[in-house]
Amino acid sequence: MAKKTVLITGGAGFIGSHLCDWFTGRGFKVIAVDNLITGSLRNIAHLKNSKDFKFIRHDVYKPFKITGGVDYVMHFASPASPVDYMEHPIATMLAGSYGTHNLLEIARTKQAVFLLASTSEVYGDPLVHPQKEDYWGNVNPNGPRSIYDEAKRYAEAAAFAYKRVYGMDVKIVRIFNTYGPRMQIKDGRVVPNFIDQILNGRPLTVYGTGKQTRSFCYVDDLVDGITRLLLSKISGPVNVGNPREFTILEFAKLIRQKYNPKAKIIFKPLPQDDPKQRKPDISLARKALGWDPKVPLEEGLKRTMDWFKNNRTT
Ligand code: NAD
Ligand code: UDP
Repeated sequence: MAKKTVLITGGAGFIGSHLCDWFTGRGFKVIAVDNLITGSLRNIAHLKNSKDFKFIRHDVYKPFKITGGVDYVMHFASPASPVDYMEHPIATMLAGSYGTHNLLEIARTKQAVFLLASTSEVYGDPLVHPQKEDYWGNVNPNGPRSIYDEAKRYAEAAAFAYKRVYGMDVKIVRIFNTYGPRMQIKDGRVVPNFIDQILNGRPLTVYGTGKQTRSFCYVDDLVDGITRLLLSKISGPVNVGNPREFTILEFAKLIRQKYNPKAKIIFKPLPQDDPKQRKPDISLARKALGWDPKVPLEEGLKRTMDWFKNNRTT
């Protein structure tokens, strides 16, 4: 049987590169498209010589063509860390808007399944807790995070418009905070920040009071959930994340106790519109995809810490 082809945008990024591994490891052909704005060729260097892997350097904001058949289009290209997307506000909006449109067009002309990497940020600073897929969210439409939140909300709307107009098979995954090997140590997200601070003997920086909550999912669990959705019959949106919730201060204390009980914790200003609470309701993923996260935070952190010790890029 001919091998199926998957087009993965953002394929040189943190999550995208793990998806490239998953598909090449299971007999698919993979085409990764990335402009390297926040990703790195290091993340996919091990795939360079595989005959089933191709890398195209391109900004998905500009239309492009792919020769040959494509069975699945997975749109992951977008800066994802708040520090990154606030540094590249217009590029972030363009990746979510024009970029999504360009990828939907490729999926339409190739008659491929389209999967969008959406985010828990579509819930904004949520007033409903935990967040279920039918919650419409509480997003500041022009605050500093809006360039990311609204681009993803637009992308969801665009995907469903193509589904309604063309009857396309589209899928939306709403990804909650995910961590693991190949995050950039300097992307400003809390997991790489705390790891960087531990490895360099610096104080852990907690923003605000640290009472805001997040729920952290290990990347292997996320990839399992995403690929189950891609190969399923449902469109979603489906939340994929780990429902174990921590305050950021609890999280800092857990890391300190495990890796350096002498580390100091210092407090810094809370960024504007930082969501006060976030925890996925994953009953839909459990029921429709038979998915549940398997890697406990302590184990995922150990794997991530070990990876950063051996692959530091500071
Ligand atoms: P990342 O920054 O590591 O990866 C994003 C990749 O997209 C990078 O390689 C970057 O160079 C590429 N990219 C960005 N704009 C592009 C463009 N215009 N054209 C081509 N390539 C472009 O971030 P990540 O954490 O791997 O996130 C991947 C996707 O998952 C993003 O769409 C993000 O919104 C989504 N997501 C991630 C999380 C998370 O916790 N990691 C949570 C929610 C959603
Ligand atoms: N945060 C923190 N210290 C840091 C980096 C982040 O306290 O060094 C907080 C941030 O304010 C937020 C949470 O940790 O409340 C998660 O931030 P991150 O940037 O990882 O992801 P977000 O969920 O905000 O997109």
